[in-house]
Amino acid sequence: MTKHLDTSKEWLERLISFDTTSRLSNLELINDIDTYLNTLGIQTRLTHNSEKSKANLWCTIGPQQIGGIVLSGHTDVVPIDGQAWTKPAFTMTEENGKLYGRGTSDMKGFCAILLAMAPEMKKRKLRTPIHFAFSYDEEVGCVGVRSLISDVVENLPLPKAVIVGEPTLMKIVGGNKGGRAFRTTVKGVPGHSSEPSRGANSIMAAARIINYIEDLQHELESKAEPDCVFDPPYTTFDLGVIEGGTANNIIPEYTHFNWGYRSLPSEDPNILEQKIRLFISKNIEPRLRAISREAGVTTELRNDTPPLIPDHQSAAEHLIRHLTGLNESGTVAFGTEAGLFQQAGIPGVIFGPGSIQQAHQPDEFIEVSQISECINFLNKLVDWAENNSSA
Ligand SMILES: [Zn+2]
Repeated sequence: MTKHLDTSKEWLERLISFDTTSRLSNLELINDIDTYLNTLGIQTRLTHNSEKSKANLWCTIGPQQIGGIVLSGHTDVVPIDGQAWTKPAFTMTEENGKLYGRGTSDMKGFCAILLAMAPEMKKRKLRTPIHFAFSYDEEVGCVGVRSLISDVVENLPLPKAVIVGEPTLMKIVGGNKGGRAFRTTVKGVPGHSSEPSRGANSIMAAARIINYIEDLQHELESKAEPDCVFDPPYTTFDLGVIEGGTANNIIPEYTHFNWGYRSLPSEDPNILEQKIRLFISKNIEPRLRAISREAGVTTELRNDTPPLIPDHQSAAEHLIRHLTGLNESGTVAFGTEAGLFQQAGIPGVIFGPGSIQQAHQPDEFIEVSQISECINFLNKLVDWAENNSSA
């Protein structure tokens, strides 16, 4: 029986029982972790959102010095709304070597293991510090971790590497795409639909912008490099929400749509945004303005998450390869917090238990064997941190 396995399961059960869907507060969960770590004699730092309804938690085990290893996990989960769960979502169920519940693989499983191992980490004489970084609102655009990272960079000794424990089946993932999300509002000119030339139809204008986005998508696909390490091997657009109009016989005044893209690390994300803004200002707005000076298009950037740029020589990849013997590293198309750490000068990899196939799904689960594998890895990390000083 793997040491720490039972306590990891207990912690997972405890973490799942807090419904930390991103739209809700995560404070009860954070306070629970905070109290526990303090009881172990581990000091914590919280960074809150402006409403003080959510918090990140940071702590250091071992010496307060540069060169520590950050173990990072988000505490929020995606909603279960509209999903057909056959097992309880906020109570853990163990069945046939699997642990079921919302967040088991994404990513309370990883957080639970860290908490279960904290007493042992505290007992050992670490020469390299180990930090825990628990964030809020990752699932809505890596929102929370940004203030945690600023706090660390501005006020604390800089860590050497970060391991973001998103589910990768304990394989090294060294890169992910970046993402930007926008909301575009087209304001047209309303009128009776029998006289379209007196108004400006916002749905039609929106459709032309969306067609342009689709054309850009085809262009990017056709230019994909055959040796690109990402799948799909090009930047992809998403268009997930559109709303506009009120009735068939009214020229619609307003249309809103939410869109964005996930770009390859090798691509400058500004260029696509500029292309689309230029298309709107040259081809869409003049027609609208010809009908009314009040008409026009506004595009609001709602989220900007940098990619994780693959770096096989980074301290983070080097450390994991050294500890595991793995030598391949892959890439993923979904966004993670790792790029934000990298941007702040802390190299990162994504490496954690469970599979992304189970993330965000009904009856989300994690294999117990994945938990054990992660514990084994962290045991090696703790041994390494005890015997090596990276300061
Ligand atoms: Zn996640």
